[in-house]
Amino acid sequence: MVAAVRVHKVGGPEVLTVDDIEVPVPGPGQIRIKQHAIGVNYIDTYFRQGMYPSPVGMPFVSGNEGAGEVTQLGPDVTDFKVGDRVAYVVPLGGYSAERLLPAARTVKLPDNISYEQAAAMMLKGMTACYLLRRTFKVEKGHTILVHAAAGGVGVILDQWAKHLGATVIGTAGSKEKGDIAKANGADHIIYYRTEDFAAKVKEITGGKLCDVVYDGVGADTFPASLDCLRPLGMFVSFGAASGAIKAFDINLLQHKGSLFATRPTLNHYAAKREDLLGLANELFEVVGSGKVKIPVNQKYALKDARKAHEDLESRGTTGSTILIP
Ligand code: NDP
Repeated sequence: MVAAVRVHKVGGPEVLTVDDIEVPVPGPGQIRIKQHAIGVNYIDTYFRQGMYPSPVGMPFVSGNEGAGEVTQLGPDVTDFKVGDRVAYVVPLGGYSAERLLPAARTVKLPDNISYEQAAAMMLKGMTACYLLRRTFKVEKGHTILVHAAAGGVGVILDQWAKHLGATVIGTAGSKEKGDIAKANGADHIIYYRTEDFAAKVKEITGGKLCDVVYDGVGADTFPASLDCLRPLGMFVSFGAASGAIKAFDINLLQHKGSLFATRPTLNHYAAKREDLLGLANELFEVVGSGKVKIPVNQKYALKDARKAHEDLESRGTTGSTILIP
């Protein structure tokens, strides 16, 4: 039996329950790993609340990201061996001391990436990678707006976009968060809880506005995010930390400048194994070379996952959060 944090009924952070669970012997295509660090992500709260349905029914083990060492192989697995250092992003099963994984969704870790770094960055960093390199290709000279620029995905977007040569405007919920976003490469900070962020973007850019807006906040920043874009600009709505955007009127895109809009998820960008490895390798390269750093600003014991969710949802965290089994 191993310790795991499960959801028996959907709800607030209080539904996260510490249980002992059995981890079966790996079947065909599966590996078993002992986890050294586990990532906490906003998407974990969507599953816990029932906003995203559990694909495995109830109860389910929370969590989508982690890193550890291979302890057992399924009968036909040849790409991995016992002792390999690995990391993953998959739907559910993360908050557990040990777990099974589909080998096809697991990647080997380079020696210069620690377990804690990996658990803090696989989901957030591969997301930053596809957002900046695939959804909209950020290049030198672009001006971009990153909402929640001190958050887990936010600080990676700030650093990586800066490294690509963009001017980064970030929004933040407090002075402390604004300072963190700045330290991670944001050129300008807007305090969107008290300032009109669209008006500030206009002022900062001298009316030219942004080439792309990366918006993981959702309801609270819509539709004002569209007012931050120059004609033909790209609105990338990649999350809903403040709630989902409802009743999106596509005609807004015409009126606000023939804009493009997309609602992407990592699942699709990493669906093929070659795409998963492509994103992971680009991430390992920018982190391994020191161009992008992964701040692990909150660390909790696995059994304290409830507190981690409370802090994340009350806007009390910055950078990445991990659990240690
Ligand atoms: P963050 O660390 O960014 O935490 C969320 C942040 O959102 C908060 O710290 C807060 O920052 C801001 N926020 C604004 N309004 C609210 C609100 N009402 N309640 C709570 N937070 C609010 O989380 P993650 O880095 O894990 O995820 C960021 C976003 O990216 C999420 O929306 C997530 O779903 C999305 N995501 C999407 C993926 C995809 O492929 N589509 C993959 C990974 C993440 P502040 O106080 O500064 O406003």
